[in-house]
Amino acid sequence: MPSLVSVVGLALAIVPVIASPAGTSFESCLRPKLSKAAKLITAQSDVIVPRWTEYKEFSTGHIVNVSTEADVQASVQCANQAGVQFFAQSGGNAWATTWSLGENDVVINLRHMNSIEFNMERTLVKVGGGATVAELTDAAYANNTQVVTANCNCVGAMGATMGAGYSRMMGERGFMIDNIVSFRVVLASGEIVDASSTTNADLWWAMRGAGGNFGIVVSSIMKAYPTPAAQNGAWVGNLIFSEDKIENVVSAVNNLTLTSKMAIFFYFANGGAPDYTPVFMVTPFYLSGGNTTAATAEARKAFASIFDLAPEADTTTWTPYNEVNAGSESFCVTGNRKVSYGAAQGQLDPTTWRAIYTDYTNFLTENGGDNVGSSLILMEAYSLQFAEQKGDYSSAYAWRSTNRFNTVAIAWYTDESLDETANSWASQVRDDWRATSGLKSNSTYINFAFGDESLEDIYGDNVPILQSLKSYYDPQNKFNQFFPLV
Ligand SMILES: Cc1cc2nc3c(=O)[nH]c(=O)nc-3n(C[C@H](O)[C@H](O)[C@H](O)COP(=O)(O)OP(=O)(O)OC[C@H]3O[C@@H](n4cnc5c(N)ncnc54)[C@H](O)[C@@H]3O)c2cc1C
Repeated sequence: MPSLVSVVGLALAIVPVIASPAGTSFESCLRPKLSKAAKLITAQSDVIVPRWTEYKEFSTGHIVNVSTEADVQASVQCANQAGVQFFAQSGGNAWATTWSLGENDVVINLRHMNSIEFNMERTLVKVGGGATVAELTDAAYANNTQVVTANCNCVGAMGATMGAGYSRMMGERGFMIDNIVSFRVVLASGEIVDASSTTNADLWWAMRGAGGNFGIVVSSIMKAYPTPAAQNGAWVGNLIFSEDKIENVVSAVNNLTLTSKMAIFFYFANGGAPDYTPVFMVTPFYLSGGNTTAATAEARKAFASIFDLAPEADTTTWTPYNEVNAGSESFCVTGNRKVSYGAAQGQLDPTTWRAIYTDYTNFLTENGGDNVGSSLILMEAYSLQFAEQKGDYSSAYAWRSTNRFNTVAIAWYTDESLDETANSWASQVRDDWRATSGLKSNSTYINFAFGDESLEDIYGDNVPILQSLKSYYDPQNKFNQFFPLV
């Protein structure tokens, strides 16, 4: 862990903002300062902010669709002067329940700040703070290069990065946070700074795992990996197993050594209307060298222990890089209520997974597929090879070498009256996972957490140093909406 002296001692390169008189309303302060392309949406009644889940949705008095760095600075500064809370949004996918925004507060929406620019060599990319995974992936593919991103197109690239950013290709290249060269950040004061390993290195360390507590990233320089078109893709697809194979498959995944090109996921889902028959689906991934027989054979060999269990269906195939996320589009659907409880595990216990499968099928039957049929259980396992080499304290994300498996139970429904049932089921699944996780603590990936976890569950033993940095960079706790440190 870096010492506080070493991290706080670095000089700030601050660009000042122009002050407005104290006591002005947010709107009257902001309007004259906004760029032409920016838009301020206000309402006497509450404005509902569109997000991935409507569970615990929040209302707000103002949404600012920012367009420039100065718009973001002015939004923060005017919110401070008006004494209202603010919150940055890019993809809108965060499902945590830690919000406390109210009807006078402000959402700073960065979606229009989504520019993506590669350098000539295609080894670096400047990513706007509001760009999505889809936009970044498409741009990379068009430029014959790759960027490490989260696995679903709808996710905000910087939103995921603030927590760590798990990616299928992380075995070779690390988390998204391991691919950040620098951030350009608007601080709680409205000042704008750069953060990198050499400039404000303490902020750079803290923002890679606890970013939501420290600032708004208006842009970031990320690494990119030039890849010829013929090789720009991966081997991926779905394997369907009959439910009697659950124990064997879970055991095989538990025992699988993930080399750096590999990742594997499995799901309890269902076949949809009218029967909502449960489905056990496994999704292996291999960062293969091209659409060749040899590359496919290499990928299949890596997952031989899974194929040996004789899947009933197999759609695995080489897929262009810009289409690799296509299989998760249904997960990106916005709206509806989605109560999501995440956990981490150091091992997969076949007996626990059998019990969870039984509970999943009961949940569907008892509440009706038409009501809760989109609910699912998911498990993700990535090669931690690269991430471990970086070292546990190389960034604020505390669990890079601990969480071998990340799991989420998602109760997905529309009828508010099911809230209690949904919470009861999904939290019970989390309890079952925790009971057999083989981990010393309930270490949880911040971006998969529900919101009721302790600070130690989220930030591990980085809590004290993060709180010290917080008191320096955000002494009035303005960034207080997403797993706040104080
Ligand atoms: C469908 C789906 C798929 C997912 N897949 C993955 C995955 O493959 N890998 C993975 O690691 N996670 C994944 N996640 C979790 C995801 O990383 C988090 O939900 C993340 O918080 C979403 O970021 P967002 O920008 O989309 O959401 P938002 O709700 O807009 O933001 C989430 C958080 O990030 C902050 N934030 C957003 N933009 C910025 C910015 N520019 N500067 C500073 N703070 C910002 C927000 O203030 C908030 O605290 C997935 C989630 C969903 C719903």
